[in-house]
Amino acid sequence: MSADDPCQLAAGLLASAERVVILTGAGISTESGIPDFRSPGGLWDRYDPSQLTYDRFCASADTRKTYWDIATQSYPVMRDAEPNAAHQAVVEIERAAKLLCLVTQNVDGLHQRAGSSDERTIEIHGSAMRAKCIDCGMEHDRATIHDRILGGDATPACDGCAGRLKPATISFGQAMPEKETAAAFSAAAQCDLMIVIGSSLVVYPAAGVPEMAVRSGAPLVIVNREPTQLDPQATVLVHGAAGESMSRIVTESGIHR
Ligand code: NAD
Ligand code: ZN
Repeated sequence: MSADDPCQLAAGLLASAERVVILTGAGISTESGIPDFRSPGGLWDRYDPSQLTYDRFCASADTRKTYWDIATQSYPVMRDAEPNAAHQAVVEIERAAKLLCLVTQNVDGLHQRAGSSDERTIEIHGSAMRAKCIDCGMEHDRATIHDRILGGDATPACDGCAGRLKPATISFGQAMPEKETAAAFSAAAQCDLMIVIGSSLVVYPAAGVPEMAVRSGAPLVIVNREPTQLDPQATVLVHGAAGESMSRIVTESGIHR
């Protein structure tokens, strides 16, 4: 193994860090069988995202029907997926008491299912494992709503107020959750190591989290198959698969001895 092996360099940074912030994107879940936005054959090849903005969802019953139709295709894939070695590596960093905070752009719930704690996990784009009424805010169990849709209720209504239910994810044009976003940026400003796993870093404000960490003086590790716009600012770039790379980084750091 060479001294400039990127996984080994990242492992060295992890070994000495005490306040790690991790940002994950769709790329950490592709090895679990959940396609990212860029994969050919993905949902966005078949639907035009500009037709599915939050404003359109609110305004049009047709859009709500299409939206729920797509969500009803993607939900079982996420529900039935298993966390992979990269999700597990994130859990090990938390168990080693090194994790300040995990910020995920994913809505698949796989981090928590792998064992990441609710206390330290920020779902900055919400979760597809819940549905929420956009009129009264009441949360609903997604499995129950899914069954209602399969039973023929194409645009399910809120049990509380009969208002419009939506998967509890943040759509294009929808306001970010304020408390969660502020907490993510505050953690990034305090961390002593920032690790990005499987994100193209094109979606803001999430992509601003590692930018904040770098501005605050933390080293940045990026684990991604493809280049990202933040690569020039990275201390260590790991171009590879998330599962294998993160397993090596955690093992070689010696944190779970
Ligand atoms: P993205 O699709 O824009 O980028 C994913 C990145 O991960 C790409 O650069 C790709 O090269 C890389 N990648 C894919 N598989 C990889 C692997 N096995 N190992 C290493 N790198 C890999 O994803 P994003 O940055 O998260 O932004 C897209 C938005 O879509 C986010 O808001 C996210 O919430 C949402 N989304 C979520 C899911 C999910 O919950 N699993 C799935 C699709 C999209
Ligand atoms: Zn309601």
